Amino acid sequence: MLEIKNLNVHYGGIHALRGVDMQIKEGSIVTLIGANGAGKSTTLRGIMSLEKPSAGQILFNGADITSQNTIQKVRSGFTLVPEGRRIFANLTVYENLMLGAYTRKDSEIEKDIQWVFELFPRLKERVDQKGGTMSGGEQQMLAIARALMARPKVMMMDEPSLGLAPIIVKDIFNIIREINSKGMTMLLIEQNAKAALEIADYAYVLETGKIVMEGSGKDLLNDERVKNAYLGEAH
Ligand code: ATP
Repeated sequence: MLEIKNLNVHYGGIHALRGVDMQIKEGSIVTLIGANGAGKSTTLRGIMSLEKPSAGQILFNGADITSQNTIQKVRSGFTLVPEGRRIFANLTVYENLMLGAYTRKDSEIEKDIQWVFELFPRLKERVDQKGGTMSGGEQQMLAIARALMARPKVMMMDEPSLGLAPIIVKDIFNIIREINSKGMTMLLIEQNAKAALEIADYAYVLETGKIVMEGSGKDLLNDERVKNAYLGEAH
């Protein structure tokens, strides 16, 4: 179980996270929803040590991992699929996947490549294609597959549906569900609040750096305040 306690992040004079508390149970899908600028990406970046928290604690299975750097966090089992995919445009699908395994020293990397190819047959067909020439949906699949190559215990995803056509979004959410069904703990942030709440076991709502509401995905889907603020026609 992952526990975030009183997480604070400052960007210079901007107090972007103001005491975020979250609990993520092993094997669950947890989503963090909120408007633009609420601090969703900052929360994930804080957990991954990509931003240094100004206060707070991160506990993983009881151990305090707050002071670990990003590489140590990857070794502890955390991975982040960043917003905008950030795949290596000039490297092939295969090379991108191998880079996902850069912290590993075991002998099962090839086996895991075959496993992600089963999950994403489209990537197998395009193993030698340059990442930058793939479609947006394919690049998102590659970003997820690359993250899986680190053999994470907790997978964090920043806006996986951003900029994708509805039919591809459906595929991506199905894949998230499938990865979770194999036991992966997932923390998902999304502007597509409806889709995220539909698959989430538990959800948090972030407003200007603070958690203002939490509950099961189903409860929040039916909550009038959430409906008005995040599930309107525009979302
Ligand atoms: P979005 O959905 O638009 O990505 P978000 O909820 O992920 O929004 P964050 O990107 O975490 O929000 O940003 C939270 C706040 O911190 C915003 O006010 C943003 O302008 C600010 N912020 C984010 N990154 C930086 C940075 N590198 N330097 C200064 N301010 C930043």
